[in-house]
Amino acid sequence: MKTVDLLIMNGIVVTMEGTGCGIIPDGAVAIQGNDIVAVGPTADVLKEYDGHRVFNAKNKVVMPGLIDCHAHSCDAIARGTAQDISGWMYKGIWPVLSCSDVEGKKIGSMVHLAESVLGGTTTICDMVYDSDTIVENHVQLGVRGFVSEMIHSMPPDVYKADENAPIEHDASIGNRRFQTGRKMVEQYNGYDNGRITCMLGPQAINMCSLELMDEIYGYARKNNVGITIHVSQGDRENVQIERRFHKRAIPLLDEKGYLGPDVLCVHLTCATPEEIATVVKSGSPMVLCSTSLAIIGGEIPPASEFLAAGGLVALGTDQAPGNNRNNMFSEMKMSALLNKCKHKQGTFFPAWQVLRMATVDAARALRKEKEIGSLRPGKKADVIIVDMQYPALTPILLSPIRNIIPNLVYSANGSEVETVIINGKVVVDDHQLTTIDLKQTIADANAAAQRFCGRLEHFDGLDQLPLAKWTREGLY
Ligand SMILES: [Zn+2]
Repeated sequence: MKTVDLLIMNGIVVTMEGTGCGIIPDGAVAIQGNDIVAVGPTADVLKEYDGHRVFNAKNKVVMPGLIDCHAHSCDAIARGTAQDISGWMYKGIWPVLSCSDVEGKKIGSMVHLAESVLGGTTTICDMVYDSDTIVENHVQLGVRGFVSEMIHSMPPDVYKADENAPIEHDASIGNRRFQTGRKMVEQYNGYDNGRITCMLGPQAINMCSLELMDEIYGYARKNNVGITIHVSQGDRENVQIERRFHKRAIPLLDEKGYLGPDVLCVHLTCATPEEIATVVKSGSPMVLCSTSLAIIGGEIPPASEFLAAGGLVALGTDQAPGNNRNNMFSEMKMSALLNKCKHKQGTFFPAWQVLRMATVDAARALRKEKEIGSLRPGKKADVIIVDMQYPALTPILLSPIRNIIPNLVYSANGSEVETVIINGKVVVDDHQLTTIDLKQTIADANAAAQRFCGRLEHFDGLDQLPLAKWTREGLY
């Protein structure tokens, strides 16, 4: 008999192994150090293992932590400030965020990470400015982070320009952000036994010069660093690129060698069938941010088309001033519903498939399928325990039909997540974060947001912000 650090037993174990969800109706998981050492029926695991700490998961689901493949955690400082408008990027989020500072963005990021982890997310692919500072949040909170510096060469007042005019790049800005990204990579890549993975994030091909793109890709590929980039995220991007290069964004990305299995393509909102085929052929996975795109512009990206073409799709929550939530349970549900609506067919995006997009498929998209995404001995111990003893999750049926997966995807909202283990460490214990003082974090975020609102009062574009108008008119 071996005594391991953590032993979870008597649970409904959703391993996500095999081609479906790999359920073990009465299962156990043994964890030693950073790793899972055993998964199987409780009776079998208990023959070999005892635990220093034992979790009785009776009537609870034990499953891999959820993986959010696209987020901008810093933007949470501006949650709820940019929705319900047209021209979200130029008229909403950019002007608002221009009034924030690094301190505000850092505390906003921590609020975002806390929200995500409390809701069962164990891995966040986070694209941020000042990544060498923001990554300290991922380190402190204990989340598995794929952190990238968001790199662009846009002047600070770009939002005042015509949306369809090619952006006048400022090379000094791009170089500074690229330098910040490299500094973060050199300092943090592989930190805490690989819990932190650093990436680079050219914001989009219309926001960087091709010289800068070449430098970023050259460095990334030489150092085996992954890339994440927004691709075809709106007509604006294609119009700007067409004006400058006489072709659309995806053909240009392909021609320049900017796609591939190491490049996570986010959105693909306006991709044509031919362009989807190009991206799939390159091996780039697609990240689908359903709620964010629905709120921002009423768009449903072509994820089912990408899947039909043989591509790999993962899910992302994007940012709080768009989505408003960074919760993978609601993201799974929205992704399923929107795709059913788009095709007017209930068979699209069944619950088991979206759960795979948020776990095993996401791990493949991040090229970490040997480490995360499912429960298997030898993988990192990123495990969550979800209490199913809530009205919305009742009844629990296991035979001859199992309703566990539909109930997780369509009924759970993340508040049922009782325990979150990341890299073998208990980060959420009985619904409470163990690594930060959450009350203090929220108080600090509110104080920082007040400072940013103070600056907003003197902002010369305040009158143009729809939220300011609606506030003035008493609608809000
Ligand atoms: Zn994004």
